[in-house]
Amino acid sequence: MSIPSRYTIILYLVATILMFAGAFAFTRHRKRVHRAYEARDYRVCVGCGYDIADQPDGSPCPECGLPINFPEFKHQWRNMFDPYYTISSKK
Ligand SMILES: [Zn+2]
Repeated sequence: MSIPSRYTIILYLVATILMFAGAFAFTRHRKRVHRAYEARDYRVCVGCGYDIADQPDGSPCPECGLPINFPEFKHQWRNMFDPYYTISSKK
């Protein structure tokens, strides 16, 4: 195995920095989405992300037609976003 050239080292350094920057941006965006959905009490369609706060429970989503089930939607969103929320605490 030969000693890597300085260009290889720079390339690996840049790749590592980009990887961490991507992970940071993804985590920050995910937290923002979680906060926004939490503020709406998770009244957001799980099928398409449409704001369904003013829709009655059981009616179809006006955007994608998925039947609205607020407790189930809340469970699914919390299961996705909240790291301390587990299946055992369902509804
Ligand atoms: Zn929808």
